[in-house]
Amino acid sequence: MKSENDIGRVSVKNGRYKIKGKFHIIEPNTPIFDDNGKLCGITNPRDMTYIHSYGGEAIFFESLSKGKLMASRCDNPKCDSKDSIFMPFRIYCPDCLRKNTVIDITDIAKKTAMIHSFIITERSGAFNTLKKPIKFINVEFEDVCTIFMGYLTVGEPKIGMRVVPIFQTKKPTYTIMDISWVPIGTPESELPEGFTL
Ligand SMILES: [Zn+2]
Repeated sequence: MKSENDIGRVSVKNGRYKIKGKFHIIEPNTPIFDDNGKLCGITNPRDMTYIHSYGGEAIFFESLSKGKLMASRCDNPKCDSKDSIFMPFRIYCPDCLRKNTVIDITDIAKKTAMIHSFIITERSGAFNTLKKPIKFINVEFEDVCTIFMGYLTVGEPKIGMRVVPIFQTKKPTYTIMDISWVPIGTPESELPEGFTL
């Protein structure tokens, strides 16, 4: 583990990123030999901290930490797709390319969210932190023209099942991991640690 001083952190001063700590840590590589002692390759350890700028999507992630689900809507009167609501959040309308309006769909999600389809994943990629098997669900909402990918934390998914969002408000990560879904009627006591309805 890195020491507290080594952790790469970023602050903003006068509209510019200021970085502190270590963002690239190199470790010695090791050789890979086969059973006869013949060289096959090497390991290539790299530890890097990536700076991911959210830009116009920051409002979406910040709102999750406050228990709110923000979508976006095209309000351009000249657009054929005017009034389309996008979840996942799209900064720009894909049809007219004008900037969308940010709207709060927390209530729509609580009242109308439904499992459109789902997939259960037994094996995951690197850096997974979700409990396996992972129940990925595609969530549809009334009046929303897109489908939102999430994961079900409680129970087993079924197509058409009504679900409600839960939010990691107690210790937010400010990532997509701050939102999950549970079947409607799930009591607060059954939610995973840190999450609220
Ligand atoms: Zn548009």
